[in-house]
Amino acid sequence: MQEYLEKQWAECMDDFSKEFSSVSYSLWLSPLQPLNIEEDNLILTVPNELAKSTLERPNYKDKILSIIKKRFNLSGFVLILDSLKEEYIKEYNLSHPSADEIIDINTIENKQITKQNPFNPRYTFENFVVGTTNQVIYAACRAVAEQPGKRFNPLFIYGGVGLGKTHLLHAIGNYIWEHKTQNLNIMYITCQDFCEDYLKAVKKTNKNDDMEEFHKKYRSADVLLIDDIQFIEKKKKTQEEFFHIFNTLYQSDKQIIITRDCQPKDIPTLTERLRSRLACGFIQDIQKPDFETRLLIIQKKIELEEYSYEPGLDYSLAERLADINIRELEGILKKIHFYAAMHGMKEANKEVMEEVLSSQGELNKKKSSSINEQTIIDVVSNYFNIPKDDLVGRKRNKEIVEPRQICIYLMWSLLTIPLATIGQTFNRDHTTIIHARDKIMEQVKTSPPTKKLVDDIITKIKNQ
Ligand code: ADP
Ligand code: MG
Repeated sequence: MQEYLEKQWAECMDDFSKEFSSVSYSLWLSPLQPLNIEEDNLILTVPNELAKSTLERPNYKDKILSIIKKRFNLSGFVLILDSLKEEYIKEYNLSHPSADEIIDINTIENKQITKQNPFNPRYTFENFVVGTTNQVIYAACRAVAEQPGKRFNPLFIYGGVGLGKTHLLHAIGNYIWEHKTQNLNIMYITCQDFCEDYLKAVKKTNKNDDMEEFHKKYRSADVLLIDDIQFIEKKKKTQEEFFHIFNTLYQSDKQIIITRDCQPKDIPTLTERLRSRLACGFIQDIQKPDFETRLLIIQKKIELEEYSYEPGLDYSLAERLADINIRELEGILKKIHFYAAMHGMKEANKEVMEEVLSSQGELNKKKSSSINEQTIIDVVSNYFNIPKDDLVGRKRNKEIVEPRQICIYLMWSLLTIPLATIGQTFNRDHTTIIHARDKIMEQVKTSPPTKKLVDDIITKIKNQ
């Protein structure tokens, strides 16, 4: 993981040096260090408050974001003071990479520059648990990886979020990379990056070679892995362009693999030509895991992450967590592990599981996807009759501090978002967030009135 972070970060630094003046670069950008990836954020350390506030200003932030997006395909970054680094490492147990590392990679440039395997090393076929809900697509992906361009071309994978589409694309990439005998050119790109790339090329069209460069780049692929094609909708011109690339590759038996959150026939804004092209291949969905698959996934993650769970807990969890996607499942496993570690336990037991599930609102009972940071802020602000600005603001009187801490605790326990993201919402550093969360967690355990109050708010949040 560290190696991956460093490699991608080196590319980012290179981009920064081109985007920023040399003074800005050496003053503000060069001291940054990558620490971790938490869900969709890159965690970076900064030396001091001044650097942090400077880099959070839009003129810096926007450029940094677009580079991080391009190199790591993450949607955000979080700055943590150097002085808090040790605590962060302890909290996240960084020696064991977290289950939430969800990384997509724009491999095209990487491949050309570094010639190192650019695919996420954790997203392999070996780490992909096969069950009844995904065995067909797994078999198809393996066949494609073993003989690209020969079978199932194009391969179209569809399914809801967090069910393993990106994992499978990377697994194909990793497999071909490792077994490549013929030096195949494997390209992985998210659809968003493809669209951006196209726009950039169009902007430069008066210099004709640029468009040519764009065509050459994509048409040179032996295997084109394109993730989340839904982003091409409504972009007629980009679809046209993709259609031509698709045809060129398809006609020369190059392998194309596409992911999407629904079937091509269900995409309303896809041009007819592209729709029928996509529909001519092998189309297969991934569904939410059933009991057996959930159990296997839980066991695999416990093994991979080296979590300590008491015997039988895997069964109980698989039973309790019906209707869940795998990303959510990973979040819950991590939370249980973390809870147990916080309480100094050697292994997580049923009690911890119950505690986490009840704070989580038992995803299986109530779809929590509609609950987000904003819902929680709204409900807490209404409940205590405090303006939202004050809730997330800097006032320190007791009437505000406590609701704020409750709000932080609720975000942590109801949502699977990193503490650092909560910190950003409240414009506070990591330690403050940890302090607030732990304080309320303790009170919920020891003071029945606080427990009742928190439960009351949770009910209101769920009924939103
Ligand atoms: P999607 O692209 O469909 O939104 P991802 O491929 O990003 O989903 O998967 C989300 C998380 O779940 C990743 O960490 C991935 O490794 C994990 N995951 C998904 N399916 C499986 C599986 N069958 N076995 C093991 N891990 C899985
Ligand atoms: Mg994905």
